[in-house]
Amino acid sequence: MQKLAIPSPVERIRFEGREYFLKRDDRIHPDFSGNKARKFYHWLEGEFPDIRKVVSYGSVQSNAMYSLSVLAKMRGWEFAYFVDHIPTWLRKNPIGNYRAALENGTVFYEKTDIKKGKGGKEVLFVEEGGRQPEAEEGIRLLAREIVEWQERNGIEVLTVFLPSGTGTTALYLQKNCSLLTAHSSLTTKVVTTPCVGDARYLRRQFAMLESDEKLWPTVLDTRKKYHFGKLYREFYRLWLELYRQTGVEFDLLYDPKGWLTLFEKKMWESGGEILYLHQGGLKGNESMLPRYRRKYPELDNEF
Ligand SMILES: *Cc1c(COP(=O)(O)O)cnc(C)c1O
Repeated sequence: MQKLAIPSPVERIRFEGREYFLKRDDRIHPDFSGNKARKFYHWLEGEFPDIRKVVSYGSVQSNAMYSLSVLAKMRGWEFAYFVDHIPTWLRKNPIGNYRAALENGTVFYEKTDIKKGKGGKEVLFVEEGGRQPEAEEGIRLLAREIVEWQERNGIEVLTVFLPSGTGTTALYLQKNCSLLTAHSSLTTKVVTTPCVGDARYLRRQFAMLESDEKLWPTVLDTRKKYHFGKLYREFYRLWLELYRQTGVEFDLLYDPKGWLTLFEKKMWESGGEILYLHQGGLKGNESMLPRYRRKYPELDNEF
């Protein structure tokens, strides 16, 4: 197996006339990257002689599903994944995360009740999107990389920005950055925006993982409500613009909402430097991009 490229690199990008730092967690490994590599790090690095099989559930194009299929393949485990429904067109023409997971040997179960806790110690059960305490191990490493980089570069006040799904990454990142900087002059503030539900949903997610609210990230949201997985013109336009100006391919599901929030809230006015966390997810673009192209062909011609 190819080694994980951690610490991941930090680059400087310029977008709409302003400079940002970009932490490239998408560069950790060609197949096992982004925040899922951080969240599943515990099971990649530890010793688990009893585990034979991974069981999880969620959407049929989930980034977490794809990363788990890679993890299972790397470790020689079976991978069973439960979904509500696989559309017939997708079954006939697999694409994106679904195709990649199939190629890694994932066995899909449709409309079957998932039996949590069954199968004993041979079975590793992973919550949807990897929302569970084991995720903290890899995210603690990420926090350490960020704070050490901040220290080396003499950045007193740093805002780390990232869009959230379950909020697991943002929560454990803020918690560990706070603990690491508790006795130093550095401030490391984690700011996020909800992509799946609203701010209340996101805070409920935080509460499930950490009871001390002082360790929670700051949640900001856009005025307009966006629904997860829906295609918005302003999202695609922003994504194309990001690519044109920075040369970086961002994810199409979370990052447009992230950058939109950053702009709407004028994050640069909060003082200090901004570090945007690239959380990977590019395999998912294989299915999102054709949908965007079909829906807004005129934007492709503009760029
Ligand atoms: C999974 C994922 C997220 C959301 O991560 P959470 O820890 O669930 O908040 C954000 N961006 C990308 C690219 C992802 O794959």
